[in-house]
Amino acid sequence: MPSDFGTDPEAGRWNCRPDHPVRLNPLFQWPLDVKAVWDWYRGAWLGITSLTLTFGIAALVYVSFLPPLVQMATFQPGWMVTIWLLNLVPQTIVAGGLHYWLYLRKGQGRITKFDKRDLTRKNGTFTFSNQVWDNIWWTLGSAITVATVYQWIIYWAMANGWAPTVTFAGNPVWFVIWMALIPMWSGLHFYWVHRLEHSPRLYQHVHAVHHRNVNVGPWSGVSNHWYENLLYFSTYFVHLVMASHPLHLLFHAYFQQISPVLSHCGFEKLVKDDKEVARSGDFFHQLHHRYFECNYGTSEIPFDKWFGTFHNGSAKMRS
Ligand SMILES: [Zn+2]
Ligand SMILES: [Zn+2]
Repeated sequence: MPSDFGTDPEAGRWNCRPDHPVRLNPLFQWPLDVKAVWDWYRGAWLGITSLTLTFGIAALVYVSFLPPLVQMATFQPGWMVTIWLLNLVPQTIVAGGLHYWLYLRKGQGRITKFDKRDLTRKNGTFTFSNQVWDNIWWTLGSAITVATVYQWIIYWAMANGWAPTVTFAGNPVWFVIWMALIPMWSGLHFYWVHRLEHSPRLYQHVHAVHHRNVNVGPWSGVSNHWYENLLYFSTYFVHLVMASHPLHLLFHAYFQQISPVLSHCGFEKLVKDDKEVARSGDFFHQLHHRYFECNYGTSEIPFDKWFGTFHNGSAKMRS
């Protein structure tokens, strides 16, 4: 860590900045530091994080609510409405719950809050002139609709044998490996789609809807223009070529839809009585919302490092 990180001028621009430069997945650093890799994955999978939360929701939904594949072989309103609700309800509970706790009730005050400012009200750049209502509309209206339609197509293809499927009993090794690779696939897809969206015309007409949120909140996560959602959720179509189980698609869906709620929530950690309850915000992406031309991907695969667009949160723009 640079010795001046804690006191460099960038620190003064935030209410709270992590006490270390943004870290990237050490799996891609050479020579390999096994302990660092262990710590990285232990931190991601033990405790409440976006990975464990979204996997937990996926498992619960699979066991309790997902219609069996045989029902999904023909397009019928019953199962299609169920899939829509399985997207809409968890999104509303997590984003609404975090918004209530962090911004309405102000349950942890400004502890671990990145930005000094509060969310925007009465601002004409937002739909309905209000950041939160704008974000709720683009999330529940646009994002959840596109995500649901894509999932209908994939479940229907799986049910008809037009997409390769796998069961845990049939191939447990692939079942687990593919589950673990889904966040990486998502990060890889996101990096390239996101860079494309920063091309001038797409940015101006499409991606600017997401970037209205310089100061982000839980509802900003997938607050995207229709065209952006068409691109962003196209990540799901990997299940038409990779042998998958409905649980893979559920995990992928909640990871894609709900982990941005946490990463945009604006607070690094959720705390209760001075104790860390969960990891939430993502300073890596918070920097993208402030400085735009950096950190297009995620910290899971360091494309930004490789292509010179990484910002580690220090005063020095590029590291
Ligand atoms: Zn962007
Ligand atoms: Zn964002």
